[in-house]
Amino acid sequence: MSVEAAAAGPARRAELAANLAAARDRIAAACAAAGRTTDEVTLVAVTKTFPASDVRLLVGLGQHDIGENRDAEASVKAAELTDLPVRWHFVGQLQRNKANSVVRYADLVHSVDRRPLVEALAGAAARHRDHPLDVLLQVRLDDAEGRGGVPVGELPALVDDVLGHEELRLRGLMAVAPLGADPDPAFAVLAERAEWLRGVVPTATIVSAGMTGDLEAAVRHGATHVRVGRGLLGTRAKLG
Ligand SMILES: *Cc1c(COP(=O)(O)O)cnc(C)c1O
Repeated sequence: MSVEAAAAGPARRAELAANLAAARDRIAAACAAAGRTTDEVTLVAVTKTFPASDVRLLVGLGQHDIGENRDAEASVKAAELTDLPVRWHFVGQLQRNKANSVVRYADLVHSVDRRPLVEALAGAAARHRDHPLDVLLQVRLDDAEGRGGVPVGELPALVDDVLGHEELRLRGLMAVAPLGADPDPAFAVLAERAEWLRGVVPTATIVSAGMTGDLEAAVRHGATHVRVGRGLLGTRAKLG
């Protein structure tokens, strides 16, 4: 049996089913604790570094929202799985020269964080799509530039940039909690900015925050989308 066939077998399906049930239970408990209903939170399964066969199994288990963080990997999986009703979330740092590729398969780009990228995505969407591209602005909640995000103070200008392009639809905000710090104060800042944004753009209702390690805190602070990788797929073999 090939590695791919083994990986897609019944044992892997059972493992993913159990992980999916556990993740959904965690989200339900977090929603209950926060006085929110479970249907307010969408689970995005982040499948980076895992094979397309895992995405196929997840979709078979009813998990249609799939996240990837690298175009080189995501574009190959998307091309392989065009027969499936996947909703592709692009969650990683994005280079301008990948815009033409990403707009062809992505349903929601979470990680828009600078003007040149807005321009590149709008141009690419005009060339390759017949309907607007949904985007989130990634907000930086710490001083580390390495993981992307627009500084909070520069958010209003970036909102204006996106609103100037009819090829893009601003749907909300995204953030990654600071490394090694309490996520609560950071997610509180995000929640406050999200409320401000809804005042400017009432349809920008998405708050993408929370990963395997901190989804409860994110749900407490109004996350509408949690992005779970390890908690569903298992430990990643390589950094991603
Ligand atoms: C990898 C990744 C995730 C998932 O992280 P886990 O800790 O594996 O749950 C979420 N968001 C982004 C942007 C990622 O790159």
